[in-house]
Amino acid sequence: MNLIDLFFPKQCIICSRVGFDICNQCLTKIPKALPTCLLCNKLSNNGYIHKNCLDINKDIYWIHGWNLSKKYKSIFDSKKKSNLFSIYILLLEELFSRFSKLDTKFRIEPISNCSLDRYLSSMLLNDNHSETLSFVGERIQDKEELITRINRASFKKIFLITIF
Ligand SMILES: [Zn+2]
Ligand SMILES: [Zn+2]
Repeated sequence: MNLIDLFFPKQCIICSRVGFDICNQCLTKIPKALPTCLLCNKLSNNGYIHKNCLDINKDIYWIHGWNLSKKYKSIFDSKKKSNLFSIYILLLEELFSRFSKLDTKFRIEPISNCSLDRYLSSMLLNDNHSETLSFVGERIQDKEELITRINRASFKKIFLITIF
């Protein structure tokens, strides 16, 4: 335990149990996201974007962790507003542990320019020599802008890794 934890003990953002940003019990209450295609939102193997949905010669996968109800979304948003980002790091780690194919090195870029997305990206190991590009962040906000960036990127394989 470090000094900060002593004066400001961590509390589960949902049930207020002390010692966690979010406790395991509450984490299991948030439904996990199914792998879907970014464009049509239909189920898709490994989150692969259907070739019919986006006609470019690249393999693009959308890996995302959870679906938030309105109630949970407002709880998370209030933490984000107060720059309490540690909860998001915890979720990102959980996400990486769930998908074995994320156990690889990426060239990392934030999925948007907001401070949380830049923070999350800075916490991951960036491999400048990797042939796989990965956009990382909290959620996908502007699909069209993202597709433009995907089109522009010289990478053949791209992962979109978002918590929600
Ligand atoms: Zn809890
Ligand atoms: Zn699709």
